[in-house]
Amino acid sequence: MRSGISQEIVIIGGGVTGVASAYELAMAGAAVTVVEQASLASMASGRTLAGVRQSGRHAAELPLAMAAVARWKTLGDELGADLEYRQDGNLRLAEDEVDRAKILTIVGEQSRLGLEIEFLDGNSAVREIAPAVAEHVRAASYTPTDGHANPNATVDAYAQAARNAGARIREQSRVQEIETRNGRIAGIRTDNCRIPADTIVIAAGIDTPALLAPLGLDLPLHLANVPVVQTTRTRPLLAPVIGTAKAHFAARQEAGGAMRFSSGGHPVEPGADAKAPDLMRPSVARLAETMSRAASLLPAIGGLPVNAVWGGLIDLTPDSLPVIDRVSEIEGLVVAAGFSGHGFCLGPVSGEIIRDLVLARVQRYRIEPFRWGRFVARNGTDSPELLG
Ligand SMILES: Cc1cc2nc3c(=O)[nH]c(=O)nc-3n(C[C@H](O)[C@H](O)[C@H](O)COP(=O)(O)OP(=O)(O)OC[C@H]3O[C@@H](n4cnc5c(N)ncnc54)[C@H](O)[C@@H]3O)c2cc1C
Repeated sequence: MRSGISQEIVIIGGGVTGVASAYELAMAGAAVTVVEQASLASMASGRTLAGVRQSGRHAAELPLAMAAVARWKTLGDELGADLEYRQDGNLRLAEDEVDRAKILTIVGEQSRLGLEIEFLDGNSAVREIAPAVAEHVRAASYTPTDGHANPNATVDAYAQAARNAGARIREQSRVQEIETRNGRIAGIRTDNCRIPADTIVIAAGIDTPALLAPLGLDLPLHLANVPVVQTTRTRPLLAPVIGTAKAHFAARQEAGGAMRFSSGGHPVEPGADAKAPDLMRPSVARLAETMSRAASLLPAIGGLPVNAVWGGLIDLTPDSLPVIDRVSEIEGLVVAAGFSGHGFCLGPVSGEIIRDLVLARVQRYRIEPFRWGRFVARNGTDSPELLG
């Protein structure tokens, strides 16, 4: 136990949410242990496109994304590492009139919410910002303060800074059971040890429902598989991150020069085994679709050699907003999951929110839209926007 704060905290999950929370808690003087079943960033946080984007966010999430961007600007200095953060904007492309109308609406709504976002009308206006964009693109929204970063560098930097502040991080240690006593958290059991705890934060992405179910708790997540392609390094081609109004393609050029792009998420069969190795692998057909959209929207990258392909799973809630809250049924249990394809950008702010939930501090943000239990007796789903 460290000075000042008398609770033992265990965070399940070594993705960006888990390590950012560990960092914030350790900096606040709390005793915190992260338990990760594989290696850090082995799931969504290491497979992500890693856009740091405010534009297109739900009105409830936008204040968090804007606060996160403010934090991203100095995060590398704070953590003492190069996160390859670039704030070169985001373009959301319109390929037809339906897209154009959608983007006009987004620009109007988000300007009213205080985001710096403009409508670029016509192909030449778009290509002034990103000359590599195809000639058939008719318009775009442009958010100059959006950007991107290196996700593995970010997770590693948070983890190292958390360790420096006293946090323990145990990799290759799978939580098998969350123990409770008299309605309170008592600890966790992994495949090789037991750790007593007063507070547990479940930041386990797609595995969160499986950890909650033995406690009689339900978090309705459905999964989507997103194929990702990375090329070899190339000359500077694309400064902003691009996405499409249809949310069926997104791309960025990494700081090292590789292009990383992705097509939309494809729903995974409900009830599919989240541990099945093939669940994350993109199919030939999905990859072909991804490549073809890349060549169509960014013709200059069509001839580049492919360096790697992979798939990632997205944890979608019914309203595409995360759950970040205390679980009312069990004293000492906090859930942070269901980031619905937006959790990389939000990482720094998620860490602050979780710290303040755990330490019962006044929240700096309005977290009511992210409350636990809001899906009880809810019908239907809102249409999720899957790409970063
Ligand atoms: C292809 C793709 C593109 C994306 N693009 C963007 C984007 O551009 N911008 C953006 O903001 N977001 C994006 N996202 C979403 C973002 O990456 C995620 O929301 C974010 O990384 C989630 O982080 P996390 O820490 O909550 O979960 P994860 O990174 O999934 O981490 C959860 C961790 O918990 C561990 N775990 C699970 N069960 C257990 C257990 N029983 N015991 C111990 N450990 C356990 C897992 O191994 C995993 O490492 C994208 C996601 C994908 C897949």
